[in-house]
This record gives sequence, structure tokens and C-alpha cells, in this order.
Amino acid sequence: MDFYDIAVIGGGASGLMAAAAAAQECGKKHIHAKIAVLEANPRVGKKLLATGNGRCNLTNSNADITHYHGDTALAAPVLDKYTPQKIISRFASFGLLCKELDEGRVYPYNLQASAVLNILRFQLDGLGVETVCDFAVASVQKSASGFTIFSDSDKVGAKRVILACGGKAYPQLGSNGSGYQIASSLGHSVTALFPALVQVKTDPRRAKPLKGARSAGTATLLLNGKPIKTVSGEIQFTENGLSGICIFELSRLVGEAGGAQKAEISLDLLPEYSAEEILSMLRNTKEVLGNLPAGDVLSGCVHKLVGREVVRAALMQTPGRAVELKTAELVSIADRVKNFRFEVFGTLAWKDAQITAGGVPLRETDENLQSRLCPGLYLAGELLNIDGDCGGFNLHWAWDSGITAGSAAAFSL
Ligand SMILES: Cc1cc2nc3c(=O)[nH]c(=O)nc-3n(C[C@H](O)[C@H](O)[C@H](O)COP(=O)(O)OP(=O)(O)OC[C@H]3O[C@@H](n4cnc5c(N)ncnc54)[C@H](O)[C@@H]3O)c2cc1C
Repeated sequence: MDFYDIAVIGGGASGLMAAAAAAQECGKKHIHAKIAVLEANPRVGKKLLATGNGRCNLTNSNADITHYHGDTALAAPVLDKYTPQKIISRFASFGLLCKELDEGRVYPYNLQASAVLNILRFQLDGLGVETVCDFAVASVQKSASGFTIFSDSDKVGAKRVILACGGKAYPQLGSNGSGYQIASSLGHSVTALFPALVQVKTDPRRAKPLKGARSAGTATLLLNGKPIKTVSGEIQFTENGLSGICIFELSRLVGEAGGAQKAEISLDLLPEYSAEEILSMLRNTKEVLGNLPAGDVLSGCVHKLVGREVVRAALMQTPGRAVELKTAELVSIADRVKNFRFEVFGTLAWKDAQITAGGVPLRETDENLQSRLCPGLYLAGELLNIDGDCGGFNLHWAWDSGITAGSAAAFSL
């Protein structure tokens, strides 16, 4: 049986960074340590390649605790220690140049996620870390010398284990929730889990006519009629309901509410204009384009499909020509532009979600992310009960927690 000083379970963002940090720490202390990454997939980093639409939004220069949810107070020291600048510098030291685009989002300079993965892979290679692929860890047992790690057909031993299996989101890329089972078997609890950064479902009868349309605006989530959070950005209409980065931001709250409260999303399709100003524009359209089908009366200011649905929802009947619209109907359309409302039927499932909300509580780990319940075990990444907003914050946590767990595991040897 192979025996390692440190075995990292999971070759995703946090696991690869943890292994690199552990090897670097051992190098500093002139310790010759045997370190391995055990990965279920035939190759490491499959999810990394899919991040940021293949461009890998690897951190955000605004990354601080205000962009995270879950055990934020306990995650704060880790996030404070490894700031976005430190992560960018670390990647620079590996040979990866980064650049910041809109809203603090940081990408590899060549906008290729494969660059991030290759740099990490070559870094690990240079540091002498072994990568063992097609090794799906089925269970981990504490032993006198450390841990025994079993796949269905093999086993290895390790003095220290870093559990970095990811969550349950996007299981087609490898993270299928098995990390929670391993953590539970070693004494940990797991909070309620739900998909986040995911599309929100609405009534399919309302979603279908809007499919493919996009609109810039604001979206407000209401729970039992009470506004909870407003975000702005591009709203994408899909056959399931609503999508786009701003909708992703609301999806976590939808998942958290868990169907216990009536959830609705109200869109303001022209946030820069008041209802009165929109009414005045509509009056003008009626006057100058009287022959226009009334359903298209908004076609000069919002996406045509969206405009038609707004008019339909406002008037509840098939309208004739713009010239026939009465003042009360124009008022109703203007109001609907400011409050285009959808009942929320939950979110799409794990296979469509970018991240997992919930996980192993951070109170069960110390400040170095070592388990308080199973000494010698460290946890990193999405597996823990902390998740970030859309925009590079989740990978930022993966790097930060990976460095923390990896360095500490090496330091403890
Ligand atoms: C489509 C998509 C796009 C995204 N884009 C971004 C983005 O641009 N910016 C951003 O910040 N975040 C993004 N995210 C989120 C981000 O990718 C994750 O939060 C991050 O990868 C989590 O890192 P991790 O190491 O904890 O888990 P993962 O990256 O999921 O890695 C876990 C690894 O463990 C392996 N594994 C699982 N179980 C076992 C087992 N039992 N034995 C052995 N190996 C196992 C898996 O195969 C996987 O390789 C995106 C997510 C998705 C799905």
C-alpha cells in the first residue's frame, strides 16, 4: 500500500492549491514529504475548465466577507489573510499573468481557463506532487498511523488528509456530494444543502413566450410580498424562467426560503425612468405610431417579446391598435414595466447549479481548517459552509481555503 505524508482528496481548485501550498511549505522547511492528489475523474481540474464560460473568473478584487454567505464570521480570518492581491501575486509567482475586467472580476490574461489549470498542474509536477487519477475515494478510516483511504479497488495510507471534494453542484464535472459522506463518517455534521447561483423557475406558461429574450433592469425578490433584495444587471428569459448573473444572486435566497414562503420576482425593465415618464412615452407612441399593433407599443424601449408580454399581462386581453389604447390602459402598461412580476417555483436542480450553499460548519474546524473532531483531517473549498456571490468569489474561497489547509497540514508534519 502506498503511504503519503499528505493525501489531498479531490483535484479541483481547492485541492490543487492545497497540494501546491503543502509542497511549498515542506520545501521551506526542507522536509522531503510525499504528497498526493487523489482524483475520481480521469483528469484533475475538470470543473476549473468550465468556470467563467471557459475564461475562469479566478478572483475578484472586491473579495471580502460582505460577498459571502454561511459561516462568514469564522471564514473571515482566512479571507483576510489571503486577499485577492495575494492570490494574484501567488499565481504570478507560478507564472500566470492576470487581468481585471468589469466589477473587479479577475481572469487569466489570455482569458483561458486552461491556462490556470495548466499552471497549477505544472506547478505540482515541479514540486514533486503525485497526481493519482481514477481514484474515487469511497471511504476514509482513521488508523494508528493516520488514515487509510479506500477506493472500490485500492487503498492508500496518509499521515494527513485534506478533504477537498467540492459540493453537490454540477456533478457531471465530478463533485457529487461524496465529500459530505466522508466528512460525516469522520464525525462531522453537514448543514442543509441547496443549489445556488442557478436559474429560477417560474410558471412555464409565462416562461415559454419569453424564451431567448434579454433585458437590462433590476430584479427584486419578494417573500410573502415583502421586498428582500434588489439587484441589477442583464435578465435572461429562459424556457424554465429567469436567469442571468443578477438572478443568480437572488437564487440563494430562493433556495434558503425553501418554498416555505411565497416567493416572487418583480422586474423593473426601465429603472432609469419613472412610471410617469414611461406613460408620457407611451402617449407619444400612441400619437405618432397609432397604427402600431397595441401589443408592440413598448417595442421602442424593451425587447419585443418582453414588451408584448408586459402589454398582455397589463391588459389581460388581445389588444388592437396603439391608437385605441385608453389612458387607464397606458397607465397599467407603464406600471407593469416598473413591476413585471413572476411567481417563483423554486430553482433548477444540482446539475444546473454553479455552487452548493451549506456544508460542513466551520465551527467544527480550527482557524487552519483542521478538523476539531478528527485531528489530522483538514477541509477546504465548497465542502465547507461558506459560499460566495457570482464574480470570482467562490474560486477565491477555494484558493484561500486550499492554501490555509495545505500549509497547515504541511506545517504539522
Ligand atoms: C459551470 C460553472 C462555472 C463556474 N464559474 C466560476 C467562476 O468563473 N468563478 C468562480 O469563482 N466560481 C465559479 N464556479 C464555482 C467554482 O468552480 C467552485 O466553487 C469551485 O470549483 C469549488 O472548488 P472545490 O475545489 O471546492 O471543488 P471542485 O472544483 O468541485 O473540485 C472537487 C474535485 O474533487 C473530486 N472529487 C469529488 N469527490 C471525490 C472522491 N470521492 N474521490 C476523489 N475525488 C473526488 C471532483 O472530481 C473534483 O475534481 C463555477 C462553477 C460551475 C459549475
